[in-house]
Amino acid sequence: MTLWRDQFIRINEFTRPGIKRTMTRNLVWHYTANPGASAANHFTYFNNLRDRYASAHIFIDSKEAVCIIPLDELAYHANQANPYSIGVELCIERDGTFHVNTIKQALAIGKELNRRYGLTISDQLRHYDVNGKICPKPWVDNPSSWQDFKQQLFAPDTKEDETLKLEQWQWKDLGDALSNMYHLSVNGQVKPPLITDYTWAEKAYTGRLKRDEFAWLNMIVLKGTYEEDYKIRRENKMEKTKVEKKRLRNYGFWTALVSQLLLVVQIGAKLLFDYTLTEDFAAEIVLFVDAILVVLATLGIISNPTKPDGKYFNL
Ligand SMILES: [Zn+2]
Repeated sequence: MTLWRDQFIRINEFTRPGIKRTMTRNLVWHYTANPGASAANHFTYFNNLRDRYASAHIFIDSKEAVCIIPLDELAYHANQANPYSIGVELCIERDGTFHVNTIKQALAIGKELNRRYGLTISDQLRHYDVNGKICPKPWVDNPSSWQDFKQQLFAPDTKEDETLKLEQWQWKDLGDALSNMYHLSVNGQVKPPLITDYTWAEKAYTGRLKRDEFAWLNMIVLKGTYEEDYKIRRENKMEKTKVEKKRLRNYGFWTALVSQLLLVVQIGAKLLFDYTLTEDFAAEIVLFVDAILVVLATLGIISNPTKPDGKYFNL
């Protein structure tokens, strides 16, 4: 993408003396002060100027930008700052304001120039900052818009059309993954369906997926993974509860528990009180517990898997 086109005015002592500059320390920002005049209009004007010293390097309107003097040559735009600066002129609309596209282009061009010459935010000057001339008027009248413009010049790039920078094999991998997700989704193997538009895979295969699109796809897949994981965990939990319930309902479990408790009581009584449970008494306890279990099984509260067909036992 070209940010501006070069269309140099002829060498002329009033506008383009043809003197080389060796140093660029500042960008000096101007406005043309000619309502409604385009960048091309200014090329013509300065190409023919004969009666005063004036010029600048780049002119920007809402549609295009024209560089009328090579950047490494002197232009007459900001007095003592001329030898070490580049002059950028913003055209104004009929009502004296900057068009939004003019500002947009100015930002892109400013970023490129700052990158090229290693300039910082404090190297940005309004013509006003050099010698007090009311230029660019919109930014002298409203200093916060000038501050805002400078901030944006050095804000991280968030170009909407920026595509991912991937190797060929990475694009293929990404395409395969998205295609796979698409097929799983439309065949109902992934619920809810995550990707129902094959365009995403196609874009990846042809290396046209943009950063924000990729971020969005990432989010979708993450969401899917989370939901899948949640489903599995929920199913596992239900399975576990079911097993636990089954055990609590099992006749054998209670019989085993009772005889184990009885053993503990017997040993405890012997050790602590030197009391021995008679076999008859122990047998009676087991019988008693057994009777209770039978009643519980009959009521369907517990089950007896050893007698699945028994009249009073249900599984
Ligand atoms: Zn100016």
